[in-house]
Amino acid sequence: MQPISPETIFRGNDAWEEALPQISKFTKRPLILGRSTSTFELRNKIFKDLKNQNLYPGVANLQFDCCDEDISRVKNLILKNNYDSVVAAGGGKVLDAGKYISESLQIPCITVPLSASTCAGWTALSNIYTRNGQFIKDVALRSCPKVLVYEHKFIKTAPSRSLASGIADALAKWYESSITSSSINDGLVQQAIQISRVLRDQLLIDGEKAYKGQFENNPSWRNTIEACGLTAGLVGGIGGEKCRTAAAHAIHNAITQIITPNKFLHGEIVGVGLLLQLKLEEMKNNNKLADQSIKQLLVLMKQLNLPTTIAELGINVFEDNNIEKIADFTCRDKSEIHFLPFEIHKQDIVDVIANFEQQKIKI
Ligand SMILES: [Zn+2]
Repeated sequence: MQPISPETIFRGNDAWEEALPQISKFTKRPLILGRSTSTFELRNKIFKDLKNQNLYPGVANLQFDCCDEDISRVKNLILKNNYDSVVAAGGGKVLDAGKYISESLQIPCITVPLSASTCAGWTALSNIYTRNGQFIKDVALRSCPKVLVYEHKFIKTAPSRSLASGIADALAKWYESSITSSSINDGLVQQAIQISRVLRDQLLIDGEKAYKGQFENNPSWRNTIEACGLTAGLVGGIGGEKCRTAAAHAIHNAITQIITPNKFLHGEIVGVGLLLQLKLEEMKNNNKLADQSIKQLLVLMKQLNLPTTIAELGINVFEDNNIEKIADFTCRDKSEIHFLPFEIHKQDIVDVIANFEQQKIKI
């Protein structure tokens, strides 16, 4: 069985209002799950709107991350208070936690992304972290959320940094799926890869305009947020686990192992991982196109104020054995790095990172 998409998707301005009658058909006591104080007002609106549908909503916040501590605490709260669904309203961590908790308690999940930072509102996947944000594992879920509400009015209120992060994460789909899955003899997987190429082109065309432009009458913004939050999810849905992530996410997972005072967003780290993946392809697979892709991506990443080196993520790889730590985690047995069609050893990662961080990247 392959979970492809949420059962119902509401999108656009007024998506939330449209979704309310549908939601109230299958839940009486929804638990609204959130995290950030900056989205408190939106979650408060969600609470009031659900109440006005004659429902009995409750609220809970993640204290740390999509981590075991928060997951068990929220699960207990749901069981104790007989909540019968989860409305996960927030960024990727909240959406992942909401999906994971709903599935383990077998209650429906409604995802309400409050930014375009990831496609987690769509996918049947949850990434589990430690309370400090270190990646542990990803868990494949049996189904996508029951309802996805992609309300543009909510997403408009998110900081532009989260949009840049979503763009970097969505761009990675093409570079990762095309290298890991291009030889898979399955039409649906091939079509998913093609969609991810169109998605990349759309982001290269519209990304900067979306990031810098005003929202009203800005089709670039609309195209871009839907590319990041919906199309990227669709690629994961129809491509399935065969349409896999590769080095960019493996390196992301490794970088999260190093705890830094300033937290960076998922896509911000994936973007750096993507540049490193392309460097690896150039070095190990003699891929001449990889260097051109790096140059093309760097132009967009600079326009979007995205970090382009591990140093810009607040980590000096030449201190505290950081480079070894990143290389070890990247090359661990279960890592996605091994989906690459060529062999990767720890020393390759050390070399590529050392080389990359020493060069002052200029465009
Ligand atoms: Zn991602």
